[in-house]
This record gives sequence, structure tokens and C-alpha cells, in this order.
Amino acid sequence: MDLGLHGKRALVCAASKGLGRACAMALAQEGVAVTITARTRETLEQTAAEIRDATGSEVTIVAGDITSEAGRAEALAACPDPDILVNNAGGPPPGDFRDWEREDWIKAVDANMLTPIFLIKAVIDGMIGRKFGRIVNITSASVKSPIPILGMSNGARAGLTGFVGGLSRQVAQHNVTINNLLPGPFMTDRLKQTTAGAAKASGRSVEEELATRAKAWPTGRAGDPVEFGQACAFLCAAGSGYIVGQNLLLDGGLFNSTMG
Ligand code: NAP
Repeated sequence: MDLGLHGKRALVCAASKGLGRACAMALAQEGVAVTITARTRETLEQTAAEIRDATGSEVTIVAGDITSEAGRAEALAACPDPDILVNNAGGPPPGDFRDWEREDWIKAVDANMLTPIFLIKAVIDGMIGRKFGRIVNITSASVKSPIPILGMSNGARAGLTGFVGGLSRQVAQHNVTINNLLPGPFMTDRLKQTTAGAAKASGRSVEEELATRAKAWPTGRAGDPVEFGQACAFLCAAGSGYIVGQNLLLDGGLFNSTMG
């Protein structure tokens, strides 16, 4: 299926590894020129080379912290008029909310709410002018079904979700869409890190802990980032202009409900 994205430009944030990388790869496979960001230059260069080799698409890298003003400015300087923006950043640490101070919360809100909002602000008028824009925010299944140890993620991402719920309806008439992808457990470094505490407590390795948990999941396994990337590319497709303000849960059916 041709998604009609050949020749478009995408800014994919936090994309040297995991879900961001998978989104960049899937878009590049559709002929999109991608600008990818991450803090660690070495991994970023390696990922860029892998995407170029696999797709032949143009890949530009920007090494920097996307949650900082300087990091965002550099990313936007490298890709000032993206047709596609994939918002992503590292997730806040797990823990007990009693241990979190104001600075911890500000960091989480900065990374997982304000950074995507400021990037949207920077690019959306250009998208409106060109009558094409696709914005995908990587949030979390925790927005729909809170994860007790990830309180800062539950809170900050819910704030972003509320904001874009409103904004998405104001820009849809210009063929600019904003949607959120809500990952459940996908096999990435982040999943391994957030499972480490429970694994230690149960005396299992991270792999054993995940395999044990997965037995109770409808798919019996964690998600493959490739599956996540493909969902992202679909939301960005030329023909996806009628998908507006949605929260697509990609959790292998883990959230138990009859609908939605
Ligand atoms: P990951 O495998 O750890 O990859 C994170 C990527 O983001 C890396 O490329 C990392 O590179 C980059 N990054 C992190 N902080 C950054 C920053 N401040 N500025 C620029 N780049 C940054 O994580 P993931 O599993 O793909 O997770 C992506 C997002 O989805 C996170 O917010 C996570 O909380 C959320 N999520 C993941 C899952 C899951 O199961 N995987 C489930 C729910 C939610 P550098 O470290 O070099 O910067």
C-alpha cells in the first residue's frame, strides 16, 4: 500500500532507538526524508546509516536534548518546515510520588507535555499554509490506564492529551491532523529499564520477568517496535486526513474493554 508520502519531510524526535527509531524507519520506507534527533551522537549516526541503507531515503541527524530550548531550536533549524512531526522523548523515571520534588515534576512536564506543545507551535502554521500536516505524539498506554509506578508519566502525558484533543479539532479543516499513539509494552530499552525493579524484587532476570508477565497478555509477547512504526506511518498517510484527535492504543489487547 502506497501511503502517498513520497518526497515529504519528517522531524522525528528521540529516534536513535526504540519507538522513535521505528517511526523514522517506517516513514523513510515510504520515501520520506527524515530528520532524527537524540542526545547521543554515536547511536544517532549508526541509526541514520541503518535507515539510509535500508530505505535509500535522506536522513539528517541532530544531536541534542529535545526537551531543552536549544535542542528544539537545533532540530527545527535542520528541519524548519516538516510535513510530519513525530513527538517523542524519554519517559519519566518510575517511583513513589512521595519521593518526587517540584523539579522532578517540572522535568516530566517539560519533556512529555511542553516539549511536544512547543514543537507543534513551531511547525503547525507552516503545515496549515501548505494544507498538509501530520503530527503524531508518542504518549503511553498509561494515559488510558494509569501505571502506579509511573505517576509522572500518567500525569504529564494526560496534560498533553487534553491539549491536543482541543487543538486537533481547530486545525483539521486544513488537512493537518494531530493524533496520539499509546504504546503498551514494546520490546525496547525503556521497557527493560522499567521492568528492572520488579525483576530484581522477584529474583528473576529482566527477560524472565517479561516472559512471565507476557504469559498473561493476549498476544503472549511484548510488541515489536516495527509494528509501532507501521502504525505511525499509517497515521501520517496522505489518506489519513479524517483521523483526527485520536488516541490509538497499541498494547496487544492488554487493556480489557469491549470498545475503544
Ligand atoms: P528507548 O528505547 O529508551 O529510546 C529512547 C530514545 O529517545 C533514544 O533514541 C534516546 O536517545 C532518545 N531520547 C531520550 N531522551 C531524549 C531527549 N531528552 N532528547 C532527545 N532524545 C532523547 O525508549 P522507547 O521505549 O522507544 O520509548 C519512547 C517513549 O515511549 C518514551 O517516552 C517511553 O516512556 C514511552 N513508552 C514506551 C513504552 C515501551 O514499552 N517501550 C511503553 C509506554 C510508553 P538518547 O538517550 O541518546 O537521547
